[in-house]
Amino acid sequence: MAGEPQEDCLFCKIVAGQIPATVVRETETTLAFRDINPQAPTHVLVIPKAHYQDAAALAAGAPQLVADVLCETQAVADEEKLDSYRTVFNTGAGAGQTVWHAHAHVVGGRGLQWPPG
Ligand code: IMP
Repeated sequence: MAGEPQEDCLFCKIVAGQIPATVVRETETTLAFRDINPQAPTHVLVIPKAHYQDAAALAAGAPQLVADVLCETQAVADEEKLDSYRTVFNTGAGAGQTVWHAHAHVVGGRGLQWPPG
């Protein structure tokens, strides 16, 4: 069910402390941790603790959590002292989503090209 922990979900396991992660921030509703395969000097993932499969499901099912996640992306950028950074929600396999628990990438610390690949 949307919002409930999923047994086979990697990020639900990180939220539960069953898989280690380098946590940089935590709130009641969100967790921010370093990406295991960083694409920039700062590459942090901000997730809702509740399980929604992607950003679209999160927006439909729990819009307040979208705000919580976005506020945390800014908090991460502040802590990392990033003047410029990019927030990315890959939504769907065609966009590169590989983990089916909504997450925002916070990428910064180097120049970023536009458009993205
Ligand atoms: P997606 O491709 O947008 O779904 O992003 C998933 C991200 O999760 C990728 O950037 C992966 O490198 C990252 N990732 C996968 N497993 C782990 C992990 O165990 N800890 C932290 N990041 C992970």
